[in-house]
Amino acid sequence: MQIRGQGFSMRIGYGWDSHEFKRGIPLKIGGVEIAHDKGLGGHSDGDVLLHAITDALLGAVAAPDIGTLFSPSDSRWKGADSAVFLAEALRRVKSAGYKIVNVDSTLVLAAPKIGPHAAAIRESVSHLTAVPPDCIGIKAKTPEGMGTDNAAIAHVVVLLEMVSSPKTRKSNKKQRS
Ligand code: MG
Repeated sequence: MQIRGQGFSMRIGYGWDSHEFKRGIPLKIGGVEIAHDKGLGGHSDGDVLLHAITDALLGAVAAPDIGTLFSPSDSRWKGADSAVFLAEALRRVKSAGYKIVNVDSTLVLAAPKIGPHAAAIRESVSHLTAVPPDCIGIKAKTPEGMGTDNAAIAHVVVLLEMVSSPKTRKSNKKQRS
């Protein structure tokens, strides 16, 4: 691993999210609308995977989390497309001087089966993040023994690589000295 200045040139980020299934709303996972009798409730569009990716990216650059940046009590985000949250996280990653190396995810849900939709979800996340599809892992498990059959859960890790020295890093150094 390369070391530049005082810091490592790579960062890891981890994100987790869960949403409850509710009848009468569309199901969106990774920006893909999936035919199902229930969707994921929430203040925004309830896209559990995009929320976990967003938090993983924010965590990797030590930014505030998704709930702090986009408060559920703020009416601006009611029904919002979660791609908006992801775009802000990507902006912060770029301005911190990093780019995404890869994204890996595990969805935990009883239904619907994710396998038939995994390729479409991978393509969608690739489009939204500008990361090649072969650098995006989409895995799914059923919640055996967890008692969470009416929820969808997403775990995400991201790896970032430094591509430029951000201005903020220089100003941080000044503040410390
Ligand atoms: Mg969420």
